[in-house]
Amino acid sequence: MEYPKNRWAWVEVDLGAVRRNTRLFKAMCEPDAQLMCVVKADAYGHGAVECARAMLAGGADQFAVSTVDEGVELRRAGVEQPILLLSEPPVDSVRTLVRNDIMPAVYTAEFALALGECAASMGRVARYHLAVDTGMTRIGVRWSEAALFRHEIDFHRGLECAGTFTHFATADVPGDWDFEMQKKRFAEAVRSVREAGMECGLVHCDNTPGTILHPEVHYDMCRAGIGLYGLQPADSTRPKVDLTPAMSVRARVTRVVEPEVGTGVGYGLTYRVPRPHTQVATVPVGYADGLSRTLSNRMEVLVRGERCRQVGRICMDQFMFAVEVNPTRAFRPSRPVEYGDVVTIVGEDGGERITMDDMAELRDTINYEVTCDFGLRLQRVYA
Ligand SMILES: *Cc1c(COP(=O)(O)O)cnc(C)c1O
Repeated sequence: MEYPKNRWAWVEVDLGAVRRNTRLFKAMCEPDAQLMCVVKADAYGHGAVECARAMLAGGADQFAVSTVDEGVELRRAGVEQPILLLSEPPVDSVRTLVRNDIMPAVYTAEFALALGECAASMGRVARYHLAVDTGMTRIGVRWSEAALFRHEIDFHRGLECAGTFTHFATADVPGDWDFEMQKKRFAEAVRSVREAGMECGLVHCDNTPGTILHPEVHYDMCRAGIGLYGLQPADSTRPKVDLTPAMSVRARVTRVVEPEVGTGVGYGLTYRVPRPHTQVATVPVGYADGLSRTLSNRMEVLVRGERCRQVGRICMDQFMFAVEVNPTRAFRPSRPVEYGDVVTIVGEDGGERITMDDMAELRDTINYEVTCDFGLRLQRVYA
């Protein structure tokens, strides 16, 4: 691994884990459905291009992104598989979409026709996926209006429907009534389009929890995101599949002091050294790196396989942790912390482990947000 030269903080991404997780999802989809790998938000903070390559090695058929720029980045890196943009971008981006062969989700006639016009003027046909709102109320045409909408745009020679999809709001909740409702509405939308004599292209709706818990709606393709990075979308999927987390977050100690009792630490001096022989060590990672300030005085880090309490408010670019090295008590950790020691913020060290889920729970959020946040500024190293 090539560690960053200019900063003692980094994210490690295990591409072997990404490949392994992708293989698991591919196996779940087979033999009938394709696997679309969701690499939006820079692959949930893991690095889109590197992850896309690992996913291809694991059997990925297609990719999905959230912004036009994310799609262009994959094309520039030489990715040739179909790329779906998961929402409708501004009309001004249609040329970029056509030129880069990126399929947008479509749900307004205005956008669809602008896309078709642009493609036709370039002598091309723009492929798109129809987004259907079956109850999440985020994007898409209302399920009951899918066929009507297709009639409005289908005449255009510059357009081709390559897919029809919806997104579930509660795919992770076992036995959920709303999920059943969305399933039924989606089936209705697909049927109505077909009965009106039009092609739906690839039909797809399952995200990670859907792929794991609801094989009955794999249809032609599954769209997996979080699971490919080795994270569980919910407790309900945990017993069903054994995933390998791909991301660890580490740094090195940049300063160690042993202040007098009563000395304050960090903005607001929210922590004061309680006992003699307490080391306070500084780590160059802060909330601008995605380490939320709400974790201040609540999280732990691993140093030499032992847990240490983070103390004081987390700053923009640094935080501190404390270690008691009172020689009259048990040593903790087994030797004092030194300048340059590796600190694990998320990941394994010795027998100990801090997970994205631990951090999500402390932050009162989900592992998705935690992992995206670590993609903000930290340099990544790949293994
Ligand atoms: C993000 C996203 C996914 C992937 O969801 P995961 O829960 O990460 O698998 C699938 N489909 C759509 C439309 C999305 O926005």
